[in-house]
Amino acid sequence: MQGTVVKVVCVGGGPAGLCTALLMKRRAPGLDVAVVERNAAGATHGWGVVFWDDLLDDLNADDPAVSRAVRSAACLWEGQQVRLPGNRSAHLGGYGYSIGRARLLQILTERADDLGVDLRFESEADPAELAAADLVVAADGAGSGLREARRDTFGTSIRTGLNRYVWLGTPKVFDAFTFAFEKTPAGWIWFHGYPSGDGVSTCVVECPTATWEGLGFDGRTPAESSALLGEIFADHLDGLPLLDRPEGAPAPSAWQRFREVTNATWTAGNVVLAGDSAHTTHFSVGAGTRLAVQDSVELAACTARYGNDVAAAASAYDAARRAALQPRQVSARHSMEWFEQAGTVLDGPEGDDVVDLAYALWARRGGYPQWRYRLHRATQHDGFRRLRSSVTSVRRTVRERRRAQQH
Ligand SMILES: Cc1cc2nc3c(=O)[nH]c(=O)nc-3n(C[C@H](O)[C@H](O)[C@H](O)COP(=O)(O)OP(=O)(O)OC[C@H]3O[C@@H](n4cnc5c(N)ncnc54)[C@H](O)[C@@H]3O)c2cc1C
Repeated sequence: MQGTVVKVVCVGGGPAGLCTALLMKRRAPGLDVAVVERNAAGATHGWGVVFWDDLLDDLNADDPAVSRAVRSAACLWEGQQVRLPGNRSAHLGGYGYSIGRARLLQILTERADDLGVDLRFESEADPAELAAADLVVAADGAGSGLREARRDTFGTSIRTGLNRYVWLGTPKVFDAFTFAFEKTPAGWIWFHGYPSGDGVSTCVVECPTATWEGLGFDGRTPAESSALLGEIFADHLDGLPLLDRPEGAPAPSAWQRFREVTNATWTAGNVVLAGDSAHTTHFSVGAGTRLAVQDSVELAACTARYGNDVAAAASAYDAARRAALQPRQVSARHSMEWFEQAGTVLDGPEGDDVVDLAYALWARRGGYPQWRYRLHRATQHDGFRRLRSSVTSVRRTVRERRRAQQH
């Protein structure tokens, strides 16, 4: 790829495509940047996503306006709760944010539009335009068609998880991140729940394939699945229903198995991979959106740094982000595998003590020192939890102030 970068096409209007486009345009308003998205504006799959301060910090460094907009639209959740049948529950510390995917995409779309990105919804990528572009950003998701067309060159590897999951919503508003486990005659099943704004929460329901088959989910429609899950989790949802389709979604959520995508290289010819087309991390670590945004930040920075040498920019981006992703994917794999064996843990000694189970769940990605366990035990007491929460809230305020002072 030689010559001045005049034309960048981002295929896919998810977080990776929109963020790359808007950050590139902000750094270099002279660039001709387009986003091509096959769905209509506002029509997206999936419910809410969680994130932490680091996503806001990353966005803030490059575009404070978008960071502020995401923060003000997000819900803050404090602490985590682990629930077992029979009203047994335990607490974990920490805090995070969450936002409905549709709301996040709306913010990114509006910002990209303000900055002059050529936004084309309900459009498929045109092969002739892609061939003529200086840079094509394949931000077309985990099933990326652009990547699959050159699978051997990218060295794509896809590993499918053992469990089944479905991405649902509910009008029950959780104030903490909630893991709720239930035992059915067919085996264990659980959800990862968190508030996602506008009076709804997100519930990602997960179970081993044996449970899924035993409960007959393979033969049920999405509406029938949600109704049965609503009955199973009634105690945790205060009897409120589970919903299979956010407003404006092109189709109801369907049961799936997680696909872990890795690539030996993220660049081939004039194409670079970004976001889920390059890498996926299991949903239990809540990192995919943040990692997609970090790809965008790096790609925009490399493109600005190397000017018209697009090949050098792509290669620098590839080296930096692949190295950063490797440990993240290993850690996410540990988390996925913990949930794949959760039934054994739940039926073992840790399943008898919800506090120990909560600790095992929290420490699933690696070894932690003994003092962490003591801190966890202390967190079960209301007074200590309040103290811990005030310390966390000071830390959060400091980070918010730091972001505000940066510009
Ligand atoms: C159940 C579940 C829960 C999750 N929870 C979290 C979480 O809590 N926190 C978090 O950070 N991440 C979470 N994620 C991951 C996160 O959703 C993804 O990592 C993120 O959406 C990746 O962004 P992306 O832009 O790469 O891909 P996507 O968001 O998948 O966007 C790709 C876009 O490309 C479009 N497209 C595809 N092909 C074409 C084409 N040929 N032409 C035009 N357009 C095309 C698609 O329509 C889509 O809009 C979760 C994922 C799942 C499955």
